[in-house]
Formats: sequence, structure tokens, C-alpha cells
Amino acid sequence: MYKGVKMGFLVRMISTDATLTAMAADTTDIVSEMQKIHNTSKVCSAALGRTLTAASLIGSSLKGKDDTVTVRFNGNGKAGSVIAVSDSDGNVRGCISEPRVELPLNSKGKLDVASAIGTDGFLTVIKDLGLKEPYIGQVPIVSGEVAEDITSYFAISEQIPTVCGLGVLVDPKTEEIICSGGFIIQLLPYAGEEVISKLEKCIEKIEPVTTMLVKGMTPEEICRTVLDGFELEVLDDASPVYRCNCSRQRVEAALISTGEQALREMAQDEKTEVTCHFCNKKYVFTPEQILSLIRK
Ligand code: ZN
Repeated sequence: MYKGVKMGFLVRMISTDATLTAMAADTTDIVSEMQKIHNTSKVCSAALGRTLTAASLIGSSLKGKDDTVTVRFNGNGKAGSVIAVSDSDGNVRGCISEPRVELPLNSKGKLDVASAIGTDGFLTVIKDLGLKEPYIGQVPIVSGEVAEDITSYFAISEQIPTVCGLGVLVDPKTEEIICSGGFIIQLLPYAGEEVISKLEKCIEKIEPVTTMLVKGMTPEEICRTVLDGFELEVLDDASPVYRCNCSRQRVEAALISTGEQALREMAQDEKTEVTCHFCNKKYVFTPEQILSLIRK
């Protein structure tokens, strides 16, 4: 479908007794693309990569074609804020304030995502469902490791019991993305105590997502492995990509919104260059073009 574009793989499943849903994604290609665009350090690849994966999974469960979800961490960590935006097909874009921040490994010998994101602040999830106002949910960051925070968001803001696993494996020498992915399991209202205790037993045995991906498991196999003992059927699947929706028109609209005075000041410069935070595309405006925006 997207010729020449590297794709992720995403699946959404439901248990045949309609007690829970499971989504999983292989976002290796998406996070690799992100790493090339932002030249992220290892820990920033993990922080933004996990956030992109979560956004893609949440986005894929949105119903409307033009619905979007924004997942934003403002935790006052070393890497600044981390933002990912997904559409309803799971196509994502994202950015991180300080993409080259390097941090020592944490006490477990892992990339220290919690210190990059920080734990002094909030996770905000904005769902734009085409209504007058977007739905905004905000929870205090509990771990800064992303997955636990996504679980906390769903528990507090949407009252949905959720299990989330996310992982990005980065080559320590080349900084290349070896694999990336994640899953989200959510209980449906019909789930009784029996289902909950069965799920808890499954959780105890869950391997890290990256371990399953390295074994070559597909998202569907990850769902079936994580939910061993549950009978699952596929609801739908998707091939999301890293995609930005910026355009000259959108940049012009943003410039116009800064107001006439700001535009007159910009017009003093030989040229005005605007760089997209999500894809680094540059938009250049001459003083004449800036002045013409005032008339718009
Ligand atoms: Zn862009």
C-alpha cells in the first residue's frame, strides 16, 4: 500500500467471550524512521519510541477516520517534553525537546528512560474526536518509564483496567533501533473475578516485549503468548508508518496566528525559516511572502 515506505505492524484482538481486548504492535520501522529524523540518543530513542508505540496503539482504537490522539509527557526530566501524535490508523509522529541527551544506565543496567522523561509532572492524553472540545485526560507521572504511566492514565482517567508493555532495543554502538514494540490489554465491562485472576497469572509470566520481538514474534503472536489460555480472535490489523501532516498551508496558518505585529517584525528579516518539530522539514518565506500573510 505505501510503496517504498517502511511500515509497522499492528493488530487488535478480542477474547471470544468478550471479556478483554488486546492490541500489539511492532514499531521497529517507525522508531527507526524517527531516530533518523531526530538523531535521537539511545535513551531518547527509548523514551520517544515507547511513547510513539503507545500513541499508535491508542490511536488505532479510535473510531472516527479523522480522530487523533496526542500523548505528552511533561516530567521535567533531562530530555524535556516528549510528544507523540497518532491518527486512527496508528500512523504517528513525535518529538522530544533534547534528542541528544545521554544518561548513564540505571541500576538495572537499562536505558534510564525515567530520568530522561522525569517524574515531576504530568502525562496528558488529548483525544480529538471531531467534537467541539477535545477530550483531555491528565495524570501525575508515576514512573516515567511510559508503560506504567499509560496504565495509570487508563485506570484514573478512563476507569479501564489496563496492562501495558512497551520496549525499544537500541544497538549500544551504532545507536540503530534493533526492535521496538508494545502491547495494551484492557478488561471489558463483562470481565469477572475469574478473568481477572487468570489475567494476573498471565502477567506474572510476561517477557519483555523486545525479547518476544527478537524471537521473531508477530504482534498477533505476542497477544496470544501474553494471554496464554485465553481464546482470541483478530478484530483488525493495520500497517502504520511514521508520518507528518505538516504543509506550507498549515505553517502559514500558524504564522498568521502570531499576529500582525509579529509578522511585520519577521518581514524585516531577509528570510524567515520555519522548521517542523515532527519531521524537520524546512519552510522558507521571503519578506514579501510574510507581508502577504498579513493581508490574509
Ligand atoms: Zn512535519
